[in-house]
Amino acid sequence: MYAPTIMAAPSTRVRTLLIALALVLAGGQWTHGLLAGQRAPGNTDKSSGVDRPTGADKPTAANGTALETIQIRPNVYVIFGAGGNVTVHVGEDGVILVDSGAAAMADALLNAVRTITTQPIRMIINTSADADHVGGNDKVGAAGVAINPDSFSDEEHATVLAHENVLVRMSTPKGNDALFPVAMWPNETFTSKFRSMYLNDDAIQVMREIGAHSDGDSMVFFRRADVIATGDILDLRHFPVIDPAKGGSIQGELASLNRLLDVTLPAMPLVLKPGRTLLVPGHGRISDYGELVEYRDMITVIRDIIQDMIGSGMTLEQVEAANPTQGYRRRYGVDSGPWTTNMFVEAIYSGLKKPAGKS
Ligand SMILES: [Zn+2]
Repeated sequence: MYAPTIMAAPSTRVRTLLIALALVLAGGQWTHGLLAGQRAPGNTDKSSGVDRPTGADKPTAANGTALETIQIRPNVYVIFGAGGNVTVHVGEDGVILVDSGAAAMADALLNAVRTITTQPIRMIINTSADADHVGGNDKVGAAGVAINPDSFSDEEHATVLAHENVLVRMSTPKGNDALFPVAMWPNETFTSKFRSMYLNDDAIQVMREIGAHSDGDSMVFFRRADVIATGDILDLRHFPVIDPAKGGSIQGELASLNRLLDVTLPAMPLVLKPGRTLLVPGHGRISDYGELVEYRDMITVIRDIIQDMIGSGMTLEQVEAANPTQGYRRRYGVDSGPWTTNMFVEAIYSGLKKPAGKS
Protein backbone atom coordinates (compact mmCIF):
# COMPACT_ATOMS: atom_id res chain seq x y z
CA MET A 1 0.00 0.00 0.00
CA TYR A 2 2.85 2.41 0.81
CA ALA A 3 4.28 3.91 -2.33
CA PRO A 4 8.00 4.82 -2.06
CA THR A 5 7.22 8.49 -2.59
CA ILE A 6 5.09 8.68 0.54
CA MET A 7 7.00 10.09 3.46
CA ALA A 8 8.18 7.68 6.15
CA ALA A 9 5.94 9.13 8.85
CA PRO A 10 2.73 10.11 7.13
CA SER A 11 0.63 12.77 8.73
CA THR A 12 -2.48 11.70 10.57
CA ARG A 13 -4.55 12.86 7.65
CA VAL A 14 -2.57 10.84 5.11
CA ARG A 15 -2.67 7.81 7.41
CA THR A 16 -6.43 8.14 7.80
CA LEU A 17 -6.84 8.28 4.05
CA LEU A 18 -4.67 5.20 3.59
CA ILE A 19 -6.67 3.29 6.18
CA ALA A 20 -9.86 4.41 4.51
CA LEU A 21 -8.59 3.21 1.14
CA ALA A 22 -7.49 -0.11 2.62
CA LEU A 23 -10.87 -0.63 4.23
CA VAL A 24 -12.71 0.18 1.05
CA LEU A 25 -10.51 -2.28 -0.85
CA ALA A 26 -10.94 -4.86 1.91
CA GLY A 27 -14.69 -4.35 1.73
CA GLY A 28 -14.57 -7.11 -0.86
CA GLN A 29 -17.54 -8.23 -2.81
CA TRP A 30 -20.16 -6.25 -0.88
CA THR A 31 -18.42 -2.98 -1.59
CA HIS A 32 -17.92 -3.98 -5.19
CA GLY A 33 -21.51 -5.12 -5.49
CA LEU A 34 -22.80 -1.86 -4.13
CA LEU A 35 -20.67 0.19 -6.46
CA ALA A 36 -21.96 -1.89 -9.35
CA GLY A 37 -25.47 -0.85 -8.43
CA GLN A 38 -24.79 2.85 -8.28
CA ARG A 39 -25.92 4.76 -11.29
CA ALA A 40 -25.70 8.39 -12.11
CA PRO A 41 -29.06 10.16 -12.12
CA GLY A 42 -28.70 10.66 -15.87
CA ASN A 43 -28.91 6.91 -16.40
CA THR A 44 -32.38 6.69 -14.96
CA ASP A 45 -35.44 7.30 -17.04
CA LYS A 46 -37.40 9.59 -14.76
CA SER A 47 -40.37 10.04 -17.04
CA SER A 48 -41.39 6.39 -17.17
CA GLY A 49 -40.65 5.68 -13.54
CA VAL A 50 -38.76 2.61 -14.70
CA ASP A 51 -35.08 2.15 -14.14
CA ARG A 52 -33.03 1.21 -17.13
CA PRO A 53 -29.93 -0.49 -15.81
CA THR A 54 -26.77 0.39 -17.61
CA GLY A 55 -24.21 -1.56 -15.58
CA ALA A 56 -22.08 -4.36 -16.90
CA ASP A 57 -22.34 -8.09 -16.05
CA LYS A 58 -26.07 -8.23 -15.68
CA PRO A 59 -27.73 -11.62 -16.10
CA THR A 60 -30.02 -11.92 -19.08
CA ALA A 61 -33.44 -13.37 -18.41
CA ALA A 62 -34.79 -16.17 -20.58
CA ASN A 63 -37.05 -13.83 -22.53
CA GLY A 64 -34.10 -11.62 -23.39
CA THR A 65 -34.94 -8.85 -20.94
CA ALA A 66 -31.87 -7.87 -19.00
CA LEU A 67 -32.33 -7.30 -15.30
CA GLU A 68 -29.47 -6.33 -13.06
CA THR A 69 -29.00 -8.22 -9.81
CA ILE A 70 -26.56 -7.18 -7.12
CA GLN A 71 -25.74 -8.87 -3.84
CA ILE A 72 -25.72 -6.45 -0.92
CA ARG A 73 -25.42 -8.93 1.95
CA PRO A 74 -24.52 -12.64 2.04
CA ASN A 75 -28.24 -13.54 1.77
CA VAL A 76 -29.77 -10.33 0.38
CA TYR A 77 -29.96 -9.28 -3.26
CA VAL A 78 -31.59 -6.44 -5.16
CA ILE A 79 -33.00 -6.86 -8.66
CA PHE A 80 -33.15 -3.69 -10.74
CA GLY A 81 -35.14 -3.07 -13.90
CA ALA A 82 -38.38 -5.01 -13.25
CA GLY A 83 -40.36 -1.84 -12.50
CA GLY A 84 -39.71 -0.95 -8.86
CA ASN A 85 -36.61 -2.38 -7.21
CA VAL A 86 -37.12 -5.88 -5.81
CA THR A 87 -35.31 -6.92 -2.62
CA VAL A 88 -34.65 -10.65 -2.33
CA HIS A 89 -34.01 -12.21 1.10
CA VAL A 90 -32.89 -15.85 0.98
CA GLY A 91 -32.73 -18.33 3.85
CA GLU A 92 -33.77 -21.68 5.28
CA ASP A 93 -37.48 -20.88 4.98
CA GLY A 94 -37.25 -19.83 1.35
CA VAL A 95 -37.34 -16.55 -0.53
CA ILE A 96 -38.93 -13.33 0.69
CA LEU A 97 -39.42 -10.62 -1.92
CA VAL A 98 -40.13 -6.98 -1.22
CA ASP A 99 -42.36 -5.92 -4.13
CA SER A 100 -42.93 -7.83 -7.34
CA GLY A 101 -42.17 -5.37 -10.14
CA ALA A 102 -44.39 -4.53 -13.08
CA ALA A 103 -46.76 -7.13 -14.55
CA ALA A 104 -44.98 -7.11 -17.92
CA MET A 105 -41.69 -7.99 -16.20
CA ALA A 106 -42.98 -10.89 -14.09
CA ASP A 107 -41.30 -13.62 -16.16
CA ALA A 108 -37.99 -11.79 -16.22
CA LEU A 109 -38.21 -11.20 -12.47
CA LEU A 110 -38.95 -14.85 -11.81
CA ASN A 111 -35.93 -15.82 -13.90
CA ALA A 112 -33.74 -13.36 -12.03
CA VAL A 113 -34.87 -14.85 -8.70
CA ARG A 114 -34.20 -18.36 -10.02
CA THR A 115 -30.69 -17.26 -10.99
CA ILE A 116 -30.10 -16.40 -7.32
CA THR A 117 -31.65 -19.49 -5.73
CA THR A 118 -33.91 -22.48 -6.35
CA GLN A 119 -35.51 -22.07 -2.91
CA PRO A 120 -39.31 -21.59 -3.08
CA ILE A 121 -40.74 -18.07 -2.98
CA ARG A 122 -42.69 -17.92 0.29
CA MET A 123 -43.68 -14.30 0.69
CA ILE A 124 -44.06 -11.08 -1.30
CA ILE A 125 -44.37 -7.88 0.74
CA ASN A 126 -45.81 -4.89 -1.15
CA THR A 127 -44.58 -1.43 -0.13
CA SER A 128 -47.54 0.30 -1.83
CA ALA A 129 -50.31 -0.38 -4.35
CA ASP A 130 -48.36 1.12 -7.26
CA ALA A 131 -48.52 -0.93 -10.45
CA ASP A 132 -44.74 -1.22 -10.75
CA HIS A 133 -44.55 -2.67 -7.21
CA VAL A 134 -47.46 -5.13 -7.24
CA GLY A 135 -47.52 -6.17 -10.92
CA GLY A 136 -45.83 -9.53 -10.36
CA ASN A 137 -47.96 -10.53 -7.35
CA ASP A 138 -49.95 -13.01 -9.41
CA LYS A 139 -47.34 -14.64 -11.63
CA VAL A 140 -44.37 -14.53 -9.28
CA GLY A 141 -46.57 -15.45 -6.31
CA ALA A 142 -48.08 -18.40 -8.18
CA ALA A 143 -44.60 -19.88 -8.51
CA GLY A 144 -44.31 -19.98 -4.73
CA VAL A 145 -45.71 -21.59 -1.60
CA ALA A 146 -47.48 -19.79 1.24
CA ILE A 147 -45.77 -19.30 4.60
CA ASN A 148 -48.65 -21.23 6.17
CA PRO A 149 -49.78 -23.50 3.32
CA ASP A 150 -53.52 -24.05 3.11
CA SER A 151 -54.11 -27.79 2.92
CA PHE A 152 -57.60 -27.21 1.48
CA SER A 153 -56.37 -25.09 -1.40
CA ASP A 154 -55.90 -26.59 -4.88
CA GLU A 155 -53.34 -24.07 -5.98
CA GLU A 156 -50.23 -23.06 -4.15
CA HIS A 157 -49.36 -19.39 -3.97
CA ALA A 158 -46.85 -17.40 -1.98
CA THR A 159 -48.19 -15.24 0.83
CA VAL A 160 -48.69 -11.69 -0.46
CA LEU A 161 -48.60 -9.28 2.48
CA ALA A 162 -49.47 -5.58 2.43
CA HIS A 163 -51.12 -2.90 4.50
CA GLU A 164 -54.89 -3.20 4.31
CA ASN A 165 -55.13 0.05 2.32
CA VAL A 166 -53.19 -1.60 -0.52
CA LEU A 167 -55.96 -4.18 -0.82
CA VAL A 168 -58.62 -1.46 -0.60
CA ARG A 169 -56.96 0.53 -3.35
CA MET A 170 -56.31 -2.45 -5.62
CA SER A 171 -59.88 -3.71 -5.27
CA THR A 172 -61.50 -0.30 -5.78
CA PRO A 173 -63.95 -0.55 -8.68
CA LYS A 174 -63.01 1.19 -11.88
CA GLY A 175 -65.90 0.91 -14.29
CA ASN A 176 -67.14 -2.68 -14.08
CA ASP A 177 -63.83 -4.09 -12.89
CA ALA A 178 -61.53 -3.55 -9.95
CA LEU A 179 -58.39 -1.44 -10.45
CA PHE A 180 -56.33 -4.67 -10.41
CA PRO A 181 -57.39 -8.29 -11.11
CA VAL A 182 -58.25 -10.35 -8.03
CA ALA A 183 -55.25 -12.65 -8.59
CA MET A 184 -52.91 -9.72 -7.91
CA TRP A 185 -54.48 -8.65 -4.62
CA PRO A 186 -52.63 -9.25 -1.35
CA ASN A 187 -53.92 -12.39 0.37
CA GLU A 188 -52.81 -11.23 3.79
CA THR A 189 -53.12 -7.70 5.17
CA PHE A 190 -52.27 -5.87 8.38
CA THR A 191 -53.23 -2.57 9.99
CA SER A 192 -50.98 -2.49 13.07
CA LYS A 193 -47.92 -0.29 13.46
CA PHE A 194 -45.62 -3.27 12.90
CA ARG A 195 -46.05 -6.68 11.36
CA SER A 196 -43.11 -8.62 12.77
CA MET A 197 -41.92 -12.14 12.04
CA TYR A 198 -38.84 -14.26 12.49
CA LEU A 199 -38.07 -15.92 9.18
CA ASN A 200 -34.94 -17.01 7.36
CA ASP A 201 -33.02 -16.63 10.62
CA ASP A 202 -33.71 -12.89 10.54
CA ALA A 203 -36.00 -10.55 12.45
CA ILE A 204 -38.26 -8.98 9.84
CA GLN A 205 -40.46 -6.01 10.62
CA VAL A 206 -42.91 -4.54 8.17
CA MET A 207 -43.46 -0.97 9.32
CA ARG A 208 -46.74 0.79 8.57
CA GLU A 209 -45.97 4.19 7.04
CA ILE A 210 -49.30 5.17 5.53
CA GLY A 211 -49.81 8.74 4.37
CA ALA A 212 -46.26 9.44 3.12
CA HIS A 213 -46.00 8.46 -0.57
CA SER A 214 -49.49 6.91 -0.51
CA ASP A 215 -52.12 5.62 1.91
CA GLY A 216 -50.72 2.08 1.79
CA ASP A 217 -46.99 2.55 2.42
CA SER A 218 -44.82 0.06 4.25
CA MET A 219 -41.09 -0.16 4.85
CA VAL A 220 -39.52 -3.57 5.40
CA PHE A 221 -36.74 -3.86 7.95
CA PHE A 222 -34.45 -6.92 7.88
CA ARG A 223 -32.84 -6.46 11.27
CA ARG A 224 -30.10 -9.07 11.16
CA ALA A 225 -29.12 -8.27 7.58
CA ASP A 226 -29.48 -4.56 8.47
CA VAL A 227 -31.24 -3.75 5.21
CA ILE A 228 -34.37 -1.63 4.91
CA ALA A 229 -36.56 -1.66 1.81
CA THR A 230 -38.13 1.79 1.89
CA GLY A 231 -40.55 1.68 -1.02
CA ASP A 232 -41.17 5.05 -2.67
CA ILE A 233 -40.83 7.03 0.59
CA LEU A 234 -37.20 7.45 -0.38
CA ASP A 235 -36.66 8.27 -4.03
CA LEU A 236 -33.26 9.76 -4.75
CA ARG A 237 -34.06 10.23 -8.44
CA HIS A 238 -36.36 13.18 -7.81
CA PHE A 239 -38.54 14.94 -5.26
CA PRO A 240 -40.65 12.31 -3.48
CA VAL A 241 -44.06 11.51 -4.97
CA ILE A 242 -46.50 12.59 -2.24
CA ASP A 243 -49.57 12.83 -4.42
CA PRO A 244 -52.58 13.70 -2.22
CA ALA A 245 -54.79 11.82 -4.72
CA LYS A 246 -53.05 8.61 -3.64
CA GLY A 247 -53.13 9.53 0.04
CA GLY A 248 -49.64 11.03 0.20
CA SER A 249 -48.76 14.06 2.33
CA ILE A 250 -45.77 16.21 3.22
CA GLN A 251 -46.38 15.62 6.94
CA GLY A 252 -46.44 11.85 6.47
CA GLU A 253 -43.42 11.91 4.16
CA LEU A 254 -41.27 13.84 6.64
CA ALA A 255 -42.48 11.74 9.59
CA SER A 256 -41.55 8.57 7.69
CA LEU A 257 -38.13 9.87 6.66
CA ASN A 258 -37.46 10.81 10.28
CA ARG A 259 -38.55 7.36 11.51
CA LEU A 260 -36.32 5.82 8.86
CA LEU A 261 -33.42 7.92 10.15
CA ASP A 262 -34.10 6.63 13.68
CA VAL A 263 -33.31 3.08 12.57
CA THR A 264 -30.63 3.75 9.94
CA LEU A 265 -27.11 3.46 11.28
CA PRO A 266 -24.05 5.14 9.79
CA ALA A 267 -20.66 3.44 9.86
CA MET A 268 -18.10 4.87 12.26
CA PRO A 269 -15.58 6.30 11.82
CA LEU A 270 -15.38 5.63 8.10
CA VAL A 271 -18.64 6.17 6.29
CA LEU A 272 -17.98 3.71 3.45
CA LYS A 273 -17.32 0.65 5.60
CA PRO A 274 -19.52 -2.22 4.46
CA GLY A 275 -21.07 -2.56 7.93
CA ARG A 276 -23.85 0.02 7.93
CA THR A 277 -27.58 0.04 7.35
CA LEU A 278 -28.32 -0.25 3.65
CA LEU A 279 -31.45 1.34 2.24
CA VAL A 280 -33.13 -0.10 -0.84
CA PRO A 281 -35.40 2.62 -2.28
CA GLY A 282 -38.37 1.80 -4.48
CA HIS A 283 -36.33 2.99 -7.48
CA GLY A 284 -32.76 3.94 -8.18
CA ARG A 285 -29.55 3.06 -6.41
CA ILE A 286 -28.86 1.55 -2.99
CA SER A 287 -28.46 4.25 -0.39
CA ASP A 288 -27.40 4.80 3.20
CA TYR A 289 -27.49 7.14 6.19
CA GLY A 290 -25.57 10.03 4.60
CA GLU A 291 -27.85 10.33 1.59
CA LEU A 292 -30.94 9.88 3.72
CA VAL A 293 -29.93 12.78 5.99
CA GLU A 294 -29.34 14.96 2.94
CA TYR A 295 -32.70 13.99 1.41
CA ARG A 296 -34.61 14.54 4.65
CA ASP A 297 -32.92 17.91 5.18
CA MET A 298 -33.71 18.98 1.62
CA ILE A 299 -37.41 18.21 2.03
CA THR A 300 -37.49 19.87 5.45
CA VAL A 301 -35.93 23.05 4.03
CA ILE A 302 -38.43 23.19 1.14
CA ARG A 303 -41.33 22.55 3.54
CA ASP A 304 -40.12 25.40 5.79
CA ILE A 305 -39.75 27.80 2.86
CA ILE A 306 -43.26 27.06 1.60
CA GLN A 307 -44.61 27.32 5.16
CA ASP A 308 -43.08 30.81 5.45
CA MET A 309 -44.54 31.82 2.09
CA ILE A 310 -47.99 30.65 3.18
CA GLY A 311 -47.49 32.59 6.42
CA SER A 312 -46.91 35.77 4.44
CA GLY A 313 -50.15 35.21 2.55
CA MET A 314 -48.79 34.07 -0.82
CA THR A 315 -51.05 32.22 -3.25
CA LEU A 316 -49.99 28.95 -4.88
CA GLU A 317 -49.16 30.83 -8.09
CA GLN A 318 -46.97 33.25 -6.17
CA VAL A 319 -45.24 30.41 -4.32
CA GLU A 320 -44.52 28.58 -7.58
CA ALA A 321 -43.23 31.76 -9.16
CA ALA A 322 -40.91 32.33 -6.19
CA ASN A 323 -39.25 28.95 -6.88
CA PRO A 324 -39.15 27.49 -3.35
CA THR A 325 -37.11 24.47 -4.52
CA GLN A 326 -34.27 26.66 -5.72
CA GLY A 327 -30.92 25.05 -5.00
CA TYR A 328 -32.41 21.54 -5.25
CA ARG A 329 -34.41 21.83 -8.45
CA ARG A 330 -31.56 21.08 -10.79
CA ARG A 331 -30.76 17.82 -9.00
CA TYR A 332 -34.22 16.58 -8.00
CA GLY A 333 -36.62 18.53 -10.18
CA VAL A 334 -38.49 17.24 -13.22
CA ASP A 335 -40.53 19.52 -15.47
CA SER A 336 -42.41 16.87 -17.43
CA GLY A 337 -43.79 13.41 -16.82
CA PRO A 338 -46.01 12.08 -14.05
CA TRP A 339 -44.46 13.99 -11.12
CA THR A 340 -43.22 17.51 -11.86
CA THR A 341 -41.63 20.02 -9.51
CA ASN A 342 -44.80 22.14 -9.62
CA MET A 343 -46.89 19.14 -8.57
CA PHE A 344 -44.52 18.56 -5.66
CA VAL A 345 -44.75 22.21 -4.60
CA GLU A 346 -48.53 22.16 -4.96
CA ALA A 347 -48.80 18.99 -2.85
CA ILE A 348 -46.81 20.62 -0.05
CA TYR A 349 -48.74 23.89 -0.37
CA SER A 350 -52.14 22.24 -0.19
CA GLY A 351 -50.96 19.88 2.56
CA LEU A 352 -49.79 22.78 4.73
CA LYS A 353 -52.83 24.93 4.03
CA LYS A 354 -55.15 22.35 5.55
CA PRO A 355 -54.73 21.16 9.14
CA ALA A 356 -52.24 18.32 9.50
CA GLY A 357 -53.88 14.94 9.02
CA LYS A 358 -53.15 11.76 10.89
CA SER A 359 -49.51 10.82 10.93
ZN1 LIG B 1 -42.51 3.25 -7.30
